[in-house]
Amino acid sequence: MKKYMPDAYYSKTIDIPFADYVAKGYKYVLFDLDNTIAPDHSHVPVPYSFEIVKIVSDLGMKCCLVSNAKSNRSEIFAKKLDIPFVSYAAKPSPKGIIRAMRDLGADTTNTMMVGDQFFTDIIAGKRAKIHTIWVKPYESREVFYVRFKRPLEFIIRKLYGF
Ligand SMILES: [Mg+2]
Repeated sequence: MKKYMPDAYYSKTIDIPFADYVAKGYKYVLFDLDNTIAPDHSHVPVPYSFEIVKIVSDLGMKCCLVSNAKSNRSEIFAKKLDIPFVSYAAKPSPKGIIRAMRDLGADTTNTMMVGDQFFTDIIAGKRAKIHTIWVKPYESREVFYVRFKRPLEFIIRKLYGF
């Protein structure tokens, strides 16, 4: 399991030192949607979502939404933010991340995955062999099937120390 430990972790997505990552050669940021750049189950971006996209865009980075969300929710959300997206990403499978990297022209040396769930976002990012950043959920409200996984995630976080 240690191989799935996130490379970094922050309280909020907005706390990630993106400028430092640019200096290290990172050019692409893959964002999870729910509880990473917006409240859980958002259909439209909130000011926080726009703020994050502006921060990374102003630094010259390109971002892409990589979401497991069913239906066209991630598409509507991404279009409002004017960023590319991969829906039905099937995280923890790396396939959505790999597809996003191919679409962006990115590679494993210059791409990072940011997400609030160890069992989907982080494991998928590690499997895709990219830099992974875990963030605390944007808010505590979330759907039951995510809440269900949190106690085990908490234990893993204690074991790993993140
Ligand atoms: Mg999430």
